[in-house]
Amino acid sequence: MDLPAPIDKLTIVHYPSPVLRRRCAPIETFDDELAAVARQLETLFHEAAGVGLAAPQVGVPVRLFVCNPTGEPEDGRVWVNPRLFDLEGSVDAEEGCLSIPGVTVPKRRAQHAVIEGFDLAGNRVRAEADDLLARIWQHEVDHLDGVLVIDGMADAAELANRKTLKQLEADYAAANHRRGKTSRR
Ligand code: ZN
Repeated sequence: MDLPAPIDKLTIVHYPSPVLRRRCAPIETFDDELAAVARQLETLFHEAAGVGLAAPQVGVPVRLFVCNPTGEPEDGRVWVNPRLFDLEGSVDAEEGCLSIPGVTVPKRRAQHAVIEGFDLAGNRVRAEADDLLARIWQHEVDHLDGVLVIDGMADAAELANRKTLKQLEADYAAANHRRGKTSRR
């Protein structure tokens, strides 16, 4: 796995970081490194009080996400190489993203979904869910394909979020500029 930093130094990257636009690679090796990245994802999304976090959101473009719709430890799940099936129904709800702080977008998602993938030991796993958990899966699998919640926003949402997105773009450009200066020294 190509890590941008030591595992315990991985942090949540923000829009418009290009890693969020990558189509992530399938995981082929179920090793300690994979488990450690998953643990770090869980730590970060608990700290951020999120319900899900995908590996590209910490700068690692592989097909892995963690989710927990309730925050109770027994409800936490790790999905490796997930695929969604049987998307049925539709529900509108406001959605946010830990990589796009301050932005919420009304998003229509399937009400029901089936997910298939692997756990950290490489066992095949399947589950189905409705409503919030089905929505989280759809949001996180989108991340693995480089798709963000702001894609395809309606005009009203675009207008409402324009200022915040511009600020995030400016913050990213400024941080990159600083990094460029440091590495030239
Ligand atoms: Zn997200």
